Amino acid sequence: MKNAVQAIMPEKLFSRERVAEGTLVRAGGVTIGGREIVVMAGPCAVEDREQLLGAAQAVKNAGAAVLRGGAFKPRTSPYSFQGLGEEGLKMLAEVRDITGLPVITEVMDPRQVVLVADYADILQIGTRNMQNYTLLREVAGAGKPVLLKRGQSATIEEWLLAAEYILAAGNSQVILCERGIRGFDPILRNTLDLASVAVVKQMTHLPVIVDPSHAVGKWHYVPAMARAAVAAGADGLLIEVHPCPERALCDGQQSLTPEHFALLMGQLQHVARAVGRTLSL
Ligand code: PEP
Ligand code: MN
Repeated sequence: MKNAVQAIMPEKLFSRERVAEGTLVRAGGVTIGGREIVVMAGPCAVEDREQLLGAAQAVKNAGAAVLRGGAFKPRTSPYSFQGLGEEGLKMLAEVRDITGLPVITEVMDPRQVVLVADYADILQIGTRNMQNYTLLREVAGAGKPVLLKRGQSATIEEWLLAAEYILAAGNSQVILCERGIRGFDPILRNTLDLASVAVVKQMTHLPVIVDPSHAVGKWHYVPAMARAAVAAGADGLLIEVHPCPERALCDGQQSLTPEHFALLMGQLQHVARAVGRTLSL
């Protein structure tokens, strides 16, 4: 019995029928899509060496497996901090050497793919670029795993077809990331569509992770949504953590402190166990 998406998109490369047991994405010694829940954490943006190293050590100590941090930032206003660019990439690489944590960072422009791929272990495609097909083809060829965020107003079908661009260009190492979609309620930044995790896990063989930080936009609600995401079957999480959120140049209001993050990781271990997964701290 075919479900709705299979009926309109038979035989796609992302289809679950193709890799029944699920695709494993490997980056810097970490495997995403297996039994282990993979937590990627760190600041929204790389700001300086001390901030990045502090965040990296804190998230590593709490059990995160991958360090996140943006060097090229897609900001709503052109006057907001745009990221440190290559200088930020160099800091990410240095902090990876110090901590051993592989690094995920966003690439916004096809012309920057080679540069970013030189430093990053996982290339992140942000929500605003989910349907930038030139960029998708370019990242596919960079020889690195790609994390594809769901577009802010993208249907599940559009999201999966965007993943198909990367798969069709010969890169099987794709991670999907649900990060909330535009809703009508102004209290939260977005509406976290956790049902998409269950749907996408059924439809595809690709690992799916959840970014509760951008989904809710306020740090207070991040732990509840992170726990719910693991319960819903997510293969991992992408969480913003800043050593001092009130001083953050970007997304401080949704960033966890290292203390709150460590507390959350302890809770996630229990949720993971309850759904037959593991989370090693
Ligand atoms: C980010 O992860 O820093 C980011 C900009 O996320 P999104 O593309 O989901 O807004
Ligand atoms: Mn952010």
